[in-house]
Amino acid sequence: MTATNPTPVLEVRNLSVSYAGNRALSVDHFQLAEGELAGIVGANGAGKSTFASALLGWSRGAPKVTGEILLDGQPITALETPERVRRGMLLIPESDLVFATMTVSENLAHAASPANAGGRRLYSTDEIYDLFPNLAERRNHLGGQLSGGERQMLGIARALRLAPRVLMLDEPSIGLAPKLVSVVLQTVRTLVDEGLTVLLVEQNVKAAIRAVDRLILLERGRILAEGPVDEMKEDPRVADAYLGASA
Ligand code: ATP
Repeated sequence: MTATNPTPVLEVRNLSVSYAGNRALSVDHFQLAEGELAGIVGANGAGKSTFASALLGWSRGAPKVTGEILLDGQPITALETPERVRRGMLLIPESDLVFATMTVSENLAHAASPANAGGRRLYSTDEIYDLFPNLAERRNHLGGQLSGGERQMLGIARALRLAPRVLMLDEPSIGLAPKLVSVVLQTVRTLVDEGLTVLLVEQNVKAAIRAVDRLILLERGRILAEGPVDEMKEDPRVADAYLGASA
């Protein structure tokens, strides 16, 4: 039983998020398996960022959040954001990825690996420079001097230093040229193939389709459809979302 149905790394039940009484998100059930790359896609305002933020227990506003979030079977809903981060819930936001006035190596050193990572993989600086050769070359450059793609890579690298159990990326494609979007998502794919569990939040459905294992289509705060990417990419609703997002 456990071999075929292991505890999901992340499980969400009856999650609801409201801002000032307006329901922004309502997810009955969602789960992420170990080593899976799942992509949440949907148009502007569908609730993608609200979902990722609720998983982290963080928000720009003051939403009312109800429901249950389990990390490795342990409820984390009542925990403050810093404790969720300590347990490996890491979100790379849309912007403010790196410290502009620190060098690449200072940015990495600032994201000090936790003393107790609870068995999660710890990435050394050398391993990170192997994964991101551009960052190795630019280790003495300031964060503010990096290109958008390099900043995105440094954001991911900083998160790796914190030993993620679930790495969440919010719109990593924003502001990047298509070629760089592919490079960033291919790097994420490599990390997943090495065992990392990733939740990708993307408005760029086309880019997400190329990278993920499973696609979740969100519309007006609800999961409209989900499934293996090879099936979902044939779903006309996904095409609609893609055309809507690119219109
Ligand atoms: P985008 O790609 O534009 O960020 P999204 O799919 O991430 O879109 P959300 O930002 O999660 O969508 O927004 C979902 C809904 O929640 C929208 O109706 C939005 O107006 C509302 N919302 C999000 N954040 C807040 C907030 N801090 N205060 C009030 N309403 C909010």
